[in-house]
Amino acid sequence: MRIIIAGGDGFCGWPTALYLSKQGHDVTIVDNLVRRKMDEELHSNSVTPLASLEERVTKWKELTGNEIKIFIGDLNHYDFLREVFRQTEPEAFVHFAEQRSAPYSMIDREHAIYTQSNNVLGNLNVLYAIKEFSPECHLIKLGTMGEYGAPNIDIEEGYIEIEHNGRKDRMPYPKQPGSFYHLTKVHDSHNIMFACKIWGIRATDLNQGIVYGLHTNETELDPVLNNRFDYDGVFGTALNRFLIQSAIGHDLTVYGAGGQTRAFLNIKDTVRCVEIAANNPADKGEFRVFNQFTEYFSVKELAERTKSVAEEMGLSVAISHIENPRVEAEEHYYHAINTNLRALGLEPNLLTDDVLKSILKVALEYKDRVIKENILPQVSWK
Ligand code: NAD
Repeated sequence: MRIIIAGGDGFCGWPTALYLSKQGHDVTIVDNLVRRKMDEELHSNSVTPLASLEERVTKWKELTGNEIKIFIGDLNHYDFLREVFRQTEPEAFVHFAEQRSAPYSMIDREHAIYTQSNNVLGNLNVLYAIKEFSPECHLIKLGTMGEYGAPNIDIEEGYIEIEHNGRKDRMPYPKQPGSFYHLTKVHDSHNIMFACKIWGIRATDLNQGIVYGLHTNETELDPVLNNRFDYDGVFGTALNRFLIQSAIGHDLTVYGAGGQTRAFLNIKDTVRCVEIAANNPADKGEFRVFNQFTEYFSVKELAERTKSVAEEMGLSVAISHIENPRVEAEEHYYHAINTNLRALGLEPNLLTDDVLKSILKVALEYKDRVIKENILPQVSWK
C-alpha cells in the first residue's frame, strides 16, 4: 500500500513509518520538523540523541534495503501538500502531524493560536487534498482519549445511543476536552465527520491514550534509528517522565492528588493499531472511531509502580505531590471502552514490571543528557 506518514519525524510517527516499511508498504514521510525547533524554543531535548531525518532514512535503507521517501514541508502550505499528493497518490494517509502538547498550547495566546491553526487548518488541508487528488485514500487520523474528558459515565467509542423524549438516535459522544490542544482534536473530529458525510471520504479517528516507551523492534536496530524520549514539563508525558525522573534521582512529580485516571498504551501498540486501521479501511463516507489504548491507570498508581521497579534496580526514589498546574478533577470515575481494535486483532503489550525496567534502562543510559531545570511544570492553566 502507498502510505503517507505525516509527522513521521515525531515520537509516534517515526516508529510507525519503520514498522509499516518493514511490512512491505511503500512509505513516504511528510514533516516540517517543527518539533525539533520547539526543543530549541524551550531549550529542551530528547533524552535519546536524535539523528537527522535524512540520516535516519539512509540508515534504514542501509540496514533493510527499504526506501522511505521524505518530503520536508508544512501541511498548512497547500501548494506543497498538493505536490505530495500528486507525486505519491496515497492509498492511506496517516496523520500524526500536529502540535501535541497540552501545556504548550496553554503557554499564552500566541501558543494557543499557533496550536489551533496548525492543527485544525492543517487537517482541513488534508481533507481537501484527499477530496481533490485521492478521493479513495483512507484518512487515519490521530485523535486523543482526552477529547472525551472524564465524564461520570462510561466512555464509548465515538458514538453513544441517546434516548430523549421517547426518541432514540446514535450521536457523537459528548466531548469535554481539558486544554486548547485537546480542543483542536475535537474540532478535527467534527471537520472529518462532516467531510465524510458530504464528500464520501473514508476516515478512521484513532482516539489514542497516552503513549509510553520509545523502542520498537525496528528503532532498536541501530542508535541512528533512536526514537525521541521526552521528559520536560511541556512535552514529557506521565510515566515516561516518571521513568526519567527516577533515572536522575529527581522526585516523581505527581500533580495534585494524583487520582487523575488516563488511558495508556505502549508505543509498540501504537504502530500495530495504525497497521490494523490501514489493513481494514473505513467504508466510503464512513467516519469510524477507535479508542486506541490498552489499559488505564491513575497518575498516583503509575508513580508507585515506577518507584517500586526503580527500587528493585537499586535506585532511591521519592514521590512528591506538587501543586497541579492544570484545571482538572483529581479524583473521578473513569471507564472507557476499547473493543474495536481488539476485535480486529490487537494483542496488547501490557505494562509489566519488565517493560518498565526496559524503559528505565534506556533512561539510565542517557541520563546525563537531561536538563534538570526543564523538569518541573512551568505552564499554568490559570
Ligand atoms: P510529536 O510532536 O513527537 O510528532 C509530531 C510530528 O509532526 C513532529 O515531527 C512535527 O515536526 C510534525 N508536525 C507538526 N505540525 C506539522 C505541520 N503543520 N506540518 C508538517 N509536520 C508537522 O508528537 P507525537 O507524540 O508523535 O504525536 C503524534 C500524534 O499523536 C499527534 O497528533 C498527537 O496529538 C497524537 N497523540 C499522541 C500521544 C502521545 O502520548 N504522544 C497521545 C495521544 C495522541
